[in-house]
Amino acid sequence: MRSKTLLSIPDKLSLTPEVEQRLKLAQSLGNKKFLQFVINACLNLQLKEQKLLKSKKNPELSLRKLLSTYTTQKIANAGQVSPSLLSLWMQKTIKECLKIYNLCLEIFNFDSKFAFPQIEFHYHTSRGLAWYHHGKHAISFNLFTIISEKDTFLTEVVPHEFAHAVLCFLYQKKLISNKIASGHGNAFKVVAMLLGSSGKTTYCTLQHQELEQVLNGVSEEEYQALVSLAPKKRPEYLYTCNCPQKVHRLKIVRHKRQQQNPHYYHCTKCKGWLNFTGQTQVPQLPPRINKEQHEE
Ligand SMILES: [Zn+2]
Ligand SMILES: [Zn+2]
Repeated sequence: MRSKTLLSIPDKLSLTPEVEQRLKLAQSLGNKKFLQFVINACLNLQLKEQKLLKSKKNPELSLRKLLSTYTTQKIANAGQVSPSLLSLWMQKTIKECLKIYNLCLEIFNFDSKFAFPQIEFHYHTSRGLAWYHHGKHAISFNLFTIISEKDTFLTEVVPHEFAHAVLCFLYQKKLISNKIASGHGNAFKVVAMLLGSSGKTTYCTLQHQELEQVLNGVSEEEYQALVSLAPKKRPEYLYTCNCPQKVHRLKIVRHKRQQQNPHYYHCTKCKGWLNFTGQTQVPQLPPRINKEQHEE
């Protein structure tokens, strides 16, 4: 491995399988500057593990300062949610962001030109968990996901978004091309892994069943908060076939198609055509099982 690389690997770097994997990914891009950047980061990470790396912080940034800026921020239409709960979740997120930001300064040896990104919170979109906005150097988090996915969300998604920010910074410093900097390619994977993410690029949000479990494990106040933060879903159109009790749920596009041509969709089980019941339903969060009632 040492001899085949574009650059010589310093002897003090121990080639663990993790390090080898990162170097391989970095090497595949054929960019010496980026490879050197990754080698340095691996070395720094090794020193950090041995508690030999000087901790580095942006002197103008403290958790207290950040929290006072962000947790007093109003979230549009947060409505029913108690401000203390909201600020608790926001605090957790900001704390994790500051941790990963400081890690960037330490292992990538950045100075404060790598600014702490603007942090935004949303809950209205049903799709993403979090986004990095290149133009304004901001990370947006979906509050609903933070709360419902609990801690796995933060430890995986915060490094993911910071990896985008780091690559954008490297592009601005003209260390890498736009092509290497964007998307979820090998450069992204290495940086995300160096920051502690698994390097995964897509996330499955909780499935209905898991969400049900989460909802049953939270306090009544948290449950109400989740209900009011839940992304608004469009109504589904209810159809029947020849199977007894069976209900098929079509979204608007399929519903329109079936209305135009009643012989478009059929049931895979009974082979009968789907018939619109005239009813619609808006998908909602699973109801909470009242524990006392449940035990009776
Ligand atoms: Zn991404
Ligand atoms: Zn059927």
